Order: sequence, then structure tokens, then C-alpha cells
Amino acid sequence: MTRIVWIQGTQLTPANSALAVADRTTDRVVLIESLPHAQRGRLHRHKVALVLTAMRRFAEELRADGWQVDECRLEHGLGFEEAISEQVRTHDATGVVTMAPCGWQAQAALPRLEATVGVPVHVTDDTQFLCSREAFADWAGTRRRLRMQEFYAWMRRTHVVLMDGEQPAGGQWSYDPDNRETFAAWKRSGERDRPTPPPTIDRDDPVLTAVQADIDRLLPGLPGRAEDFWLPTTRAESLAWLEDFIEHRLAGFGPFEDVSDPDDPWLRHATLSPLLNIGLLHPRECVAAAEGAYRSGAAPLASVEGFVRQVLGWREYVNGVYWREMPTYATLNELDAHQPVPPALTGEVRTTLACVQHVADIVERYAWTHHIDRLMIAGNLMLLLGTEPQAANAWFRERFADGYDWVMQANVTGMSLHADGGLMATKPYAAGGAYIKRMTGHCKSCRFDPKQRTGDDACPFTTLYWDFTARHHERLAANPRTAQAARGWTRFDEEEQGRIRARAQVVAAGIVDGTL
Ligand SMILES: Cc1cc2nc3c(=O)[nH]c(=O)nc-3n(C[C@H](O)[C@H](O)[C@H](O)COP(=O)(O)OP(=O)(O)OC[C@H]3O[C@@H](n4cnc5c(N)ncnc54)[C@H](O)[C@@H]3O)c2cc1C
Ligand code: SF4
Repeated sequence: MTRIVWIQGTQLTPANSALAVADRTTDRVVLIESLPHAQRGRLHRHKVALVLTAMRRFAEELRADGWQVDECRLEHGLGFEEAISEQVRTHDATGVVTMAPCGWQAQAALPRLEATVGVPVHVTDDTQFLCSREAFADWAGTRRRLRMQEFYAWMRRTHVVLMDGEQPAGGQWSYDPDNRETFAAWKRSGERDRPTPPPTIDRDDPVLTAVQADIDRLLPGLPGRAEDFWLPTTRAESLAWLEDFIEHRLAGFGPFEDVSDPDDPWLRHATLSPLLNIGLLHPRECVAAAEGAYRSGAAPLASVEGFVRQVLGWREYVNGVYWREMPTYATLNELDAHQPVPPALTGEVRTTLACVQHVADIVERYAWTHHIDRLMIAGNLMLLLGTEPQAANAWFRERFADGYDWVMQANVTGMSLHADGGLMATKPYAAGGAYIKRMTGHCKSCRFDPKQRTGDDACPFTTLYWDFTARHHERLAANPRTAQAARGWTRFDEEEQGRIRARAQVVAAGIVDGTL
């Protein structure tokens, strides 16, 4: 009695719950590569190279571990369902086992898969998160607002992370106020003179080389260059990256997590999301390694807590929000935003906005950039311009090696674009040039002046920030967290308001049509 164990490309972990219920003496594992899917989405080539190389190397590891493994490569016109049906027929299988997919659309397609393959499909729980979909739904209950801080404290207690008995380590749940250093502080600290990029990988690995050749042959023209590929593709390499982060960057993570530096794309960030999101690392081991560094005195509590909040808090929280709110969440557009993604971000044109060009360059090169570049620069620009939320989601999904629907809907639709009307964030994350100047080193080399809101030299972020405040004045005035910003707008006299709105029209049109 043979069953087909389907391992999806984002589930490359020996702890995959479908493997846990399978029998290596009778069942057969299948991994299915879909290059047409990559072509349709115009994915960044690093994202494709990461997933395909990791799949092929995972298949080798499973074989070495005694599993019978088939690797299928889908041709144009063929889907996952046909490939699995073919496996069922070839091996006369009596069933299919797979771990729950990480995306809503794939999950919704499972009944169709069962109908197509003609044998029962057993779906095992997604074990790549610490908080199951059901546990999150229980926590959320009937709450009107899903506040991350409350969820995070609950997760700390439930999983006994950074706890001293019943109390949070150090007596506080969050050390965020200690973790908001500016760009000037980053420069003063001397940390900047000690760059700590993630370790380099073996670019000559034969599996990676074969994947790069397949991409060149079958998917010409994807964004990105093969020679810039930088990510680990096995669990062993991923564990080495985690260790490197804990040793070299974790201590500085907290204070400088909100900074963006034109000369250092990594700062003290972990660069672990592409690995976590395809199963090469598990959040539990990342959190445990960070807590271990605190307990041994190797890293300060404020940094460790800051990192734990990202992984045990934010990452689990956005996944929970996703499964609770989909599919409606992907239709939300509370701010009635309908603009396309600015062509400077898609790489069609270069822009004179130095901070935006920096993000576009880093994403083009690495298919990754850190949180503040995503939120304060790319996301903020799209919020202020009124970019349509699902177009923004598509940009992140295609261009980022860690971009998957479950993580982007809450981050992009919710946190960044406020298209959910505040379900997850208490206020829109709108920032003008002055704030960007405080937190980054980009303005020095920019032709615009962050202090000016009108005139040819005015920083587009500053102008668009005030225009956004005017467009959504009623909503912002009614929210205690944005009421002050709303009052700021009313302090301008009518003439100045008119000048700002007129300049905003010019600036927005220039960014959207790619001439600014
Ligand atoms: C507009 C926008 C789009 C984003 N798109 C993605 C995406 O497509 N994929 C993705 O994995 N993350 C996304 N994030 C979240 C976060 O920016 C990235 O996880 C992080 O920048 C990855 O780099 P890092 O591993 O160095 O993270 P670090 O800053 O070092 O953080 C450590 C880890 O915490 C987790 N984490 C931190 N913040 C978040 C968050 N808000 N949501 C979920 N996990 C988080 C990640 O797993 C990350 O690896 C997005 C955030 C914003 C604001
Ligand atoms: S001046 Fe404005 S556009 Fe230029 S880098 Fe600063 S914030 Fe960005």
C-alpha cells in the first residue's frame, strides 16, 4: 500500500508533518517544480533559485535518509494536480499526504486536488509556526481589534519565552523605547565601522549551478543577476547563518533596527526570513538561540527582546491574522487607493528620490531589504501615493525572496497601507521627509530638501505626507494617535494648503509616470 507524500516548495523541513505520518519503506515522496508558475509571476530570480535549489538539495537529503523520492518538473500547461495524479497512477497509490499549504488559495484548491487524483488526500497540520491557526482563532475570539502587543505577551507566557517565573524577563514586555536609535546615533556608535554582513555561500555548488542554468534557459529575463545570489539553500547552511547572526549581529539588533544606511544594506538584521519561510529554519530554534544569548550574557535584553518580538510576536501574529481574515482581507481597500506601483520600484525607470532608488537597487540586487526600507520607504511611498493594495502585495510577492501571501497581506494591506481600516495597526504608517532624514542616511545625497513642502526642491515625501493628511483629514482627526498630525494641517493658511495640494499633484504624477 503506497501513498504519495507531496512536499511543497515552502515546506523543506525534516519535521514536515506529512513525513511524520508516512512510512519510508512503502510511501513515496514527491517534490514538484513549477517553472511556468515563476514565469507567470515574473518572480525575482533569487526567489526561484532559492526555492528550486533548496528543493533539489532537500530531495538529496531525504534519499540519504532512506526515502524514495521523485522530482517532477512541470512543463507549460501542466499543473500540480496532474503531476500528483500521474504519481498516483504510476505507483498505484492509495492516498496522498501533504502538509497544509501556507497560502489561502492553495488551501482552497485542496478539495479539487482530491477530486482530480481520485484517492483520499490527507492534509496534516502546518507545523512551521508556533501558534496554530486554531490557537490564534481562539485567542482572537470576538476581539474587535487584534493588537499585536497583547498577542505577543500571550505567546511569551504560553511558550515560556524570556520569562522569569510569571514575569517578563527584566520586568517589561517590550524594550521598544530603548530600540529607536537614529541614524546619527548609528554613526556615533562606531558600529557602522564594523559591518557584519551575513556569511558568503558556495556559489559553485553543483545543484545551484544547475538551477541557475535552468533559469537562464527556461526563464530568460527575470529580474536579478545570477552572480548576486547570496542565500543558503540547505538546513545546515541555514543553521550556520542563524549562529552567525546570534554571534555577530544580535547584540546590535535592537538599538539600530529602525535605521536605514545607504552604505550598509544589512545593518544588524537577521536576514533569516527567506529561510524561515521555506522551512529551512524553525521559529522555535531562532527564539531559543536568541534567549540563550541573553541568558549567557552574550547579548543585551533590549536587543534579544526586540528580535523575539519580531519572530514570536509579529511573524506568528501576521500568519494568524491572515488565516482568520482571508479571503475577505485581500479585498479590503479602506483608503480607496487605486494607483499602480511606482515604476521606480519595479525597476522600469530610475528616480531622483535617493531613498527610493536605494530600496529599488537593494531589492534588484538581493531580492530582500530590511524592514525599515520596506515600511518607511517603499510602503510609505505607496501609502502616500494611494497605491492599490493588491498591486502592492504583488510587487512584494514577486520581488522578495521571502514574499508569500500569508506574510504580506497583514504587513502590506494592513500595517503599511492601512487598507484594513485599522484592524491590526492603530494608525496609518505615514511619514514625511523629516522623519526619514532622522532615521536614514539617504537625504544627504538627495537633490530634495526634507524640510521643504512646496517648490521644486521640496522633498516629495514631505509634500505627499501633508497631502495625505489633507485627503484623510476627517479619519486622522478622529483617531487620538493621529489627531495631532491632523491639527498640523489646519495650522496652514488656505494659500499654503493650496500650494501643498498643487505641488502634491505634480509630484505624485511624476512618480507614477516615472519622470521624477
Ligand atoms: C511592507 C512590508 C512587507 C513585508 N513583506 C514581507 C515578506 O514578504 N516576507 C516576510 O517574511 N516578511 C515581510 N515583512 C516583514 C519584515 O520586514 C521581514 O520579515 C524582515 O525585514 C526580513 O528580514 P530579516 O530576516 O533580516 O528580519 P529581522 O528584522 O532581522 O527580523 C527577524 C525575523 O522576524 C520576522 N519578522 C520581523 N518582522 C516581521 C513582520 N512584520 N512580519 C512577519 N515576520 C516578521 C522575520 O521572520 C524575520 O526574519 C514585510 C514588512 C513590511 C512592512
Ligand atoms: S529628501 Fe526626501 S526623497 Fe530625498 S532621500 Fe530624503 S526623504 Fe527621500
